[in-house]
Amino acid sequence: MASINPKKPAGKVTLPALKKLVAAIKEVLAASIEMGGTTLRDFLRENGEPGYFKQTLRVYDREDEACRECGTAVKRIVQSNRSTFFCPKCQR
Ligand SMILES: [Zn+2]
Repeated sequence: MASINPKKPAGKVTLPALKKLVAAIKEVLAASIEMGGTTLRDFLRENGEPGYFKQTLRVYDREDEACRECGTAVKRIVQSNRSTFFCPKCQR
């Protein structure tokens, strides 16, 4: 949503990009909470139901699937032993 390449060092992210990132984080957190959270594996809500935000994730766990914005295949890389998913066209 903030169009930031995940390989960019944090110290090199520009102030306008950081402002977009902060707005996107707030929007995603609010939407996720609204939908009961994000069930990736075994998270269940207090009522025993899974959270339904995962179905709307833009790139996470969607390697080789089409970017919801531009249709480009989502890529997966590993950074610090953690999977990072991103669109190489939207996130430059
Ligand atoms: Zn894209």
